[in-house]
Amino acid sequence: MTERSILIKGGRIVSESGILEGDLLIEGEQIKAQGTKGAFDNIKVDETVDASGKYVLPGLIDPHVHFNSPFMGTVSLHDYSNGTIAAAYGGTTTLIDFSTQPKRGSIVENLRQKEKEAQVSYIDWSMHGILLDASPETLREIPELVREGVPSYKCFTTYKHSDRLMDDASILKILEIPAEAGGILMVHCEDDSILEYHLQKELAQGHFEPIYHARSRPASAENISIQRVIDLMKEVAAKVYIVHTSTAESVGMIQSARIEGLPIHSETCTHYLTLTEEKLKEKDGYLYICSPALRTKKDNEALWKGLAAGCIETIGSDDAGVPTEDRIRISEGRFDKVPSGMPGVEPRLAILYSEGVCKGKIDMPKLVSITSTAIARIFGLYPQKGHLAPGADADVTIYDPKPEWVMSAKNHHMNTDFSPFEGFKIKGKVETVLCRGSFVIKKGELVGKSGFGKRVIRHLKK
Ligand SMILES: [Zn+2]
Repeated sequence: MTERSILIKGGRIVSESGILEGDLLIEGEQIKAQGTKGAFDNIKVDETVDASGKYVLPGLIDPHVHFNSPFMGTVSLHDYSNGTIAAAYGGTTTLIDFSTQPKRGSIVENLRQKEKEAQVSYIDWSMHGILLDASPETLREIPELVREGVPSYKCFTTYKHSDRLMDDASILKILEIPAEAGGILMVHCEDDSILEYHLQKELAQGHFEPIYHARSRPASAENISIQRVIDLMKEVAAKVYIVHTSTAESVGMIQSARIEGLPIHSETCTHYLTLTEEKLKEKDGYLYICSPALRTKKDNEALWKGLAAGCIETIGSDDAGVPTEDRIRISEGRFDKVPSGMPGVEPRLAILYSEGVCKGKIDMPKLVSITSTAIARIFGLYPQKGHLAPGADADVTIYDPKPEWVMSAKNHHMNTDFSPFEGFKIKGKVETVLCRGSFVIKKGELVGKSGFGKRVIRHLKK
């Protein structure tokens, strides 16, 4: 072999269709072959990694992070250096961030800025756009960006106060453009009128504690908004991806829409599967303010079932941690002024394995699908990423299922003093991570290099 070769021996190689006990051969930046135990023993390789007793997974893809993102008077605390290091420690080898259109400005300009920020990345990265308006100028930029490898766009049905709300007429227009150009529209679904009604009611009654964040952002607001988007999809046949689905009812609505044949996809997040609004009643409840709000046990269970049944296809982290001191300073004790969002770029795999696989809610092939393969398919990274077949990028995460430990802000690598999963009992640990055939994490230690990560150009299949 002319290129550097690595043999990962004796692991349990997981794909979305099953598990193979065997060996994985990497040559240069790509997967060369998969085989049964010992299949490549006659080949001379540069390095051998013993994976016996461990899971060998396609590197995780995080479809939803907000790095360097300004919001509600602060900036999210992860950047492409500390954020991609934390992601890699969590087994993630590619992430997709958002480039937000400046108000009445050009999304292309912001994309160029984000590209500069990403030059320090330790892992591969890509970008979605966030659209704030449906003006002719904005709509004209979309086909150009789709051609350039940015085929996914997010918009909001809320945040009227910060000028982010897209009304139905605008959504119809922006459904049409990416669809024609070969793109997908991502929607943050919460009905703004319902939120505003409840918010004013709570504030008028002097309710300022964090739990009123959940009361003022009820599940009904999300459900109505998702149903509305499904109805709009019947007017314009276009692909839609519902971000951070959090309610039990939404699982049923999305399932029905899929049965009707609508091209709807949906994501939930680690925190909507494992945390409830009870967190908002705790002393530091303001740290758990995110939108949509944390829900109930019933919702957690329904989301796990939705994942198992396949109507919820992916897990994003929605990583948008905010410095704790900023939450306290900006909010002045009012839930509605707390900059929302939680850090989550690192714990996804450990939480999904411990809470999902070990508790019998999902199996390993499903874990691989929701954290990698399905994401790659939906967002146009497949077949380059999302699986360990010959010719794919050698993005590999080795997970040792044996260690048992307790998750805490004291032992994570995220740039924050807060872990939403503080105290969770964890089974297993990310041991080694390769991105395009290069070690990023080796036996638990960071060995990757800043600037190694490359932009992934994405194109969707029509
Ligand atoms: Zn988000």
